[in-house]
Amino acid sequence: MSIDSGLLADMRKGRPILWINHDCNSADKELPDSGFLFEDILDAEDILRSYAPVLERFYPELKKSGGIIESPLIPVLDAGRIFKGAAFSNLNLFIKADHLLPVSGSIKARGGIFSVLKHVDVIAAKHGFFTDDRGFVFAEEALDVFSKYTVSVGSTGNLGLSIGIAGRAFGFNVSVHMSSDAKGWKKDMLKSLGADVIEYESDYSEACSQARMSAEQDPFAVFIDDENSSDLFLGYSTAALRLKSQLEETGIEVTEENPLFVYLPCGVGGAPGGITFGLKHLFGDAVHCFFAEPVTAPAMTLGLVSNRYSGISVHEIGLSGKTCADGLAVGRASEFVSRIMARILNGSYTVAEQDFYRYLAILYDAEGLRIEPSAAAGFAGIPMLFESSSGKEYITSRGISQENITHIIWTTGGSMEPEDVFTANYKKGKVLLKQQHLF
Ligand SMILES: *Cc1c(COP(=O)(O)O)cnc(C)c1O
Repeated sequence: MSIDSGLLADMRKGRPILWINHDCNSADKELPDSGFLFEDILDAEDILRSYAPVLERFYPELKKSGGIIESPLIPVLDAGRIFKGAAFSNLNLFIKADHLLPVSGSIKARGGIFSVLKHVDVIAAKHGFFTDDRGFVFAEEALDVFSKYTVSVGSTGNLGLSIGIAGRAFGFNVSVHMSSDAKGWKKDMLKSLGADVIEYESDYSEACSQARMSAEQDPFAVFIDDENSSDLFLGYSTAALRLKSQLEETGIEVTEENPLFVYLPCGVGGAPGGITFGLKHLFGDAVHCFFAEPVTAPAMTLGLVSNRYSGISVHEIGLSGKTCADGLAVGRASEFVSRIMARILNGSYTVAEQDFYRYLAILYDAEGLRIEPSAAAGFAGIPMLFESSSGKEYITSRGISQENITHIIWTTGGSMEPEDVFTANYKKGKVLLKQQHLF
């Protein structure tokens, strides 16, 4: 394996690393070869908009936004309450709060719901009742047809919730194949929605292949493939369009001298990859995207540093894949997403188990936001870039002044978490902070 041996040695030992992608090329050069077009993002946005009146009827919480599923961009006025040290007090910092996304409470909402909508379109066309206004979904005929179909998906939790919530609203049967890491409350919530939950002792890739196989045998089965779905990828990518408008509203102008640094928690790579793809289209090389992964499950980083993409699993370098960040508990990256990221992702870093809890607690104390462990991964990126030698070198070698950077930390899930689950995580974080004499 032609991996930087120091980096790999640290990864094997489960030490947090920062990896700078030296194959990251200019967005203009690489995006045309990605296999997707900017128009694909716009088409996904159009489909989401055409379903807005339908979604508003299904989910009253979408009344305020006219049926659009979007999260707020929250300015952090005093970054010094999150990051200790003089270097951090004047950061231009925002939180892109996908943990508050309506309907399913995680970054999986846009992609998951979009992929269900795409199947609704296809099935409606096949049965001859498709209309552009999507009003057909309320007709008895449509409900009869949808109830014959089963939508199945492999999930560590949040994707299942998204697909379960959307699929059940349209009247589909839903089967969610879950790995052993999936949290109990996510399984319970799915069961209460009337979804079938199939549990596996094995890891996530295994749950996905079982779901894929059981769907292949059934003509009324629809499989949403987390590891290979362009619908998921494009649904996620629409977040970039919305973020651009939100930044415009704040008056922030993004240029190569005033760049955007975005920190995205990564599992198989679909959600952060789709968002990166969209952001690179909109901001070109003025946006720098970094993925965050658990030290125990750095699937994307490993796939990229080894140039083996989905062909290598974290188990192969002796890592467990087990983590409290259930949404990121993935041993193997998506093949097509990792191939695109090889050319446009700026870098990635890994996060120690304790840091998920620490940042979760810090964020609640500083901003009153309740996130799940996976969603805390983004925070570790800022100290990584500012304090490590490769991080400092990344910034200075590009002639970027630290004070000109706008940082966006993507918080990817948590608002649906039961109170007691949040409280237990928060307490763990507080204990860890006390032990470290931090805060
Ligand atoms: C799924 C998930 C991610 C990462 O998305 P992938 O498409 O698996 O890379 C990040 N955060 C949370 C909370 C998630 O559920």
